Amino acid sequence: MSVQRINQAEEDDWIASHFILQDDVRRRSAADIVRDFMPERILRQLAGKFVMVCRPPDSAATVIRPEKIRDRFVVVVSKYLIPVSNPPTHFPREYTALILMHELAHIQLEHSPPTTDGMENEAYELALEWYNETQATQMTMDDLTKLNEQHDGFWLNGL
Ligand SMILES: [Zn+2]
Repeated sequence: MSVQRINQAEEDDWIASHFILQDDVRRRSAADIVRDFMPERILRQLAGKFVMVCRPPDSAATVIRPEKIRDRFVVVVSKYLIPVSNPPTHFPREYTALILMHELAHIQLEHSPPTTDGMENEAYELALEWYNETQATQMTMDDLTKLNEQHDGFWLNGL
């Protein structure tokens, strides 16, 4: 997709303020995925509203706390979800992208935990909408369910 690249200093600043992951490689990797898969206009709307941090690897990702921390929503991500090599070793980038976008969709939709099944579906649907827009694909909820099922064992088996 064509992402309108901002200048390097702005990009570094955006990454530093939104991605506080375990190391620089993961920080850039997560930022690249978000940039590659999210519509530019949505990223602009979400600028300054979220921060991604790492958590122990008992699940893929989640938005914690109904209240914001320093005016930001915190997206807590397993370090195993963020690829450190190309090609990625654990998951395809598309899977990581959809999980991260699902969490960003909760923020865009202003959902507060604990979320209901209805909110979860709404977040998946919005993530899919963004995915299909930027990737020019027609992925459906059924495709997404299958993709989730393929990778669920990774989290359930506790690494
Ligand atoms: Zn969710």
